Amino acid sequence: MVRDIETIMSKSSLPSEFELIARYFAPLARAFPGAYGLLDDAAVITPAPGNELVVKTDTIVGGIDFLPDDPANLIARKGLRVNLSDLAAKGAVPRAYLLDLVLPNTVEEAWIAAFVSGLAHDQAEYAIHLIGGDTSSTSGPITIAVTAFGEAPIGQMIRRSRAQAGDTIFVTGTIGDAALGLSVLSSVLSSLDAASAAFLVDRYRLPQPRAALGPQLIGIATAGLDVSDGLVADLRHLCAVSRLDAVIEAGSVPLSPAARVAISGDPKRLATALTGGDDYELLFTAPPAAAIRIGELSRSFGTPITPIGRTRALRAGDLPRVVVLDSLGRTLRFASEGWTHFGNRRGPQ
Ligand code: ADP
Ligand code: MG
Repeated sequence: MVRDIETIMSKSSLPSEFELIARYFAPLARAFPGAYGLLDDAAVITPAPGNELVVKTDTIVGGIDFLPDDPANLIARKGLRVNLSDLAAKGAVPRAYLLDLVLPNTVEEAWIAAFVSGLAHDQAEYAIHLIGGDTSSTSGPITIAVTAFGEAPIGQMIRRSRAQAGDTIFVTGTIGDAALGLSVLSSVLSSLDAASAAFLVDRYRLPQPRAALGPQLIGIATAGLDVSDGLVADLRHLCAVSRLDAVIEAGSVPLSPAARVAISGDPKRLATALTGGDDYELLFTAPPAAAIRIGELSRSFGTPITPIGRTRALRAGDLPRVVVLDSLGRTLRFASEGWTHFGNRRGPQ
């Protein structure tokens, strides 16, 4: 370490790193014995017999993944939830997480308190516990890395690569709300009624990971992932490693009433919905015969699970493709299939 964090933090109004840990983070670790009260160098997780750990890390950065003046409790919950969404897509039950917090010295203690209250809220909602992390400072934006640990039966994690030709493609919830919500926040989409706008913005700010549903898909889904980059791009990721094509019907993609209002105002917004990302819904494949069981799951969880298309065998020598058809069976083309860092630009700035 070039400069001691205490030196950097001394320019800020925050308590010392160790006071922060004791006052704010240790209480979040209290209920997990292997966290040792955040008083040791490392933590221990013991999976249940027959289970293995499924691990995932995700970083969110101010100005890229959230707006710097978003409420701190929502930033915390988003940082945790994007990881919970990955665990859900893999069929894993959440257990614990590590938190790496890199803060500019403009951050105040009230921000930390609100951030921690957001974590406490979601720990209770998703039965997950903080077990450690790291705290550092920066002259750059707030950066939050969460590493989440979940459990799944050994060898049963839902992979991207196991889809079969002729599988039905399903998606949970509704698609496009978050991307349209980001359009509202960045004033690209302004001619919308207040209730619809608020709904879409909320979907952007606070993902709803399908944490309880995901583990129920083990033994049903042949392959799956969560939609974070955009429906079309993520389906293409799945197809690429499963070595299959996919054909989906745009008209089958589930849209919320608010998204329908937004799209009726400008049909080009359908592309935003299908390619925009930040949905954190589950996209998975299953044999057509699984539809009845999936319908039962949908009803018991109160979560829409909608068939949107199917996979088909790749012709020898062809690259995997995702074909999106309109209601007349014509292929829709998109300028960009989804979000990627470095290759194109998006983000709330
Ligand atoms: P080290 O000097 O070995 O990096 P630290 O002093 O950074 O250890 O951390 C002390 C303890 O506090 C460890 O158990 C660590 O996991 C925990 N910890 C540090 N920062 C955070 C944080 N932001 N969230 C949760 N736990 C943290
Ligand atoms: Mg440290």
